[in-house]
Amino acid sequence: MRPQHIIERKRDGRALSTSEMESFVSGIVDGRWADYQISALVMAMFINGLTRAEQTSITRAMLESGTIMDLSDIDAPKADKHSTGGVGDKTSLLVAPIAAACGLAVPMISGRALGHTGGTLDKLESIAGYNVKLSFPKIKAVIRACGFALAGQTRSIAPADGKLYALRDATATVPYIPLIVASIMSKKLAEGLDALTLDVKTGKGAFIKSLPESKKLAHALCETGRKFGVNTGALVTDMSEPLGKFVGNSLEVFECVSILRGESDSQMDQTLALSIELTSTMLVQCGVASSLADGRKLSKNALNSGEAVERFRKNVELQGGDPRICDDPTRLLKTRTVSGAISAKASGYISGIDAYAVGSAVCYVGGGRVKAEDKIDHSVGFESRLKVGDRVDAGETLGIVHCRSRSQAAAVSEKLHAAYKISGEKPRISKLVRARI
Ligand code: URA
Repeated sequence: MRPQHIIERKRDGRALSTSEMESFVSGIVDGRWADYQISALVMAMFINGLTRAEQTSITRAMLESGTIMDLSDIDAPKADKHSTGGVGDKTSLLVAPIAAACGLAVPMISGRALGHTGGTLDKLESIAGYNVKLSFPKIKAVIRACGFALAGQTRSIAPADGKLYALRDATATVPYIPLIVASIMSKKLAEGLDALTLDVKTGKGAFIKSLPESKKLAHALCETGRKFGVNTGALVTDMSEPLGKFVGNSLEVFECVSILRGESDSQMDQTLALSIELTSTMLVQCGVASSLADGRKLSKNALNSGEAVERFRKNVELQGGDPRICDDPTRLLKTRTVSGAISAKASGYISGIDAYAVGSAVCYVGGGRVKAEDKIDHSVGFESRLKVGDRVDAGETLGIVHCRSRSQAAAVSEKLHAAYKISGEKPRISKLVRARI
């Protein structure tokens, strides 16, 4: 089938047949479709929409573009969690070792930075030597040794999404529910899981911003997972302010290692709390915990006993990274950066921090990509000194942008100032978990 014919049909608002969708997906993988043709069709899908049947057929075609991992010889429940993308959203680096320490096998296939949001693979690559390009046998060997592996798509595991994800990022076609479902579920269903927990973000820093739409996305993801035989659950969680203390690759890894080491501070509380919620949900879905309360207890024990940080150290070693970051996380912060303080212009309470504005500022200073082939600067980012609900005095530091030059700091300073809302009254704090599906 000629790409032009398929593009033309979607351009004119028609539904694509299963064989047209298969032709598109196989064309991505074998190179028959040029990047501009893929981008044109994705834009037509974005504008003219996909039916429920098209959503299922593109997901299935993307899943079947590679192989489904067979982990049946690993004697543990296989489970994973995946986020729809947020700012400072680093829980994968905590959930995987905590869940592994509680007895799950976690084959986590992750993505790269997308739009204003960060990506787990980019974060991991800020650990010197860390390799996310693992073959299936290597993924299995790493899971056997430490309980979890963190890797990207390969030529055999969900290959279509690798290409499509990068092109959607560069063509502003990410925030569309059927494309998000196909992207996430084609990766996750390829992992051969028993259970999957989704963290569907809602709020300014999420791709899908309103709570009703986010719930719709959560339902669509869960339905798709169940249709393919995987016990799938979702938490809809707040992404109106950046999660936790840091935004930016090596800074976020620093936050996670600090938490694993039991050295977190109050700005990191949200990251820890959400990681515990997600892990306990996975444990319940797998039957390892009898209730969420039991799951929370098991997760906290895994952290407090030091088992989770030891799992993480082992994983870093096995994937080629420098495990000394687990003894001294400041090793992640050795690259020299310029710091620019963002100070409060008035006294009062912080009533909002626009996660989208913070994520875009970090992207602008090099922490994300503008074009698919752009290199990430792992050292830059943003540090929250105060969070929503905190009292602030005029002139006090709200946050710090870490970047490469004074001119970069100056260029994002106004946007970051504008990201903060200060009001006279103590605001109502949104719940971190807004819904469970
Ligand atoms: N995460 C993914 O893996 N894909 C998307 O499309 C959005 C978030």
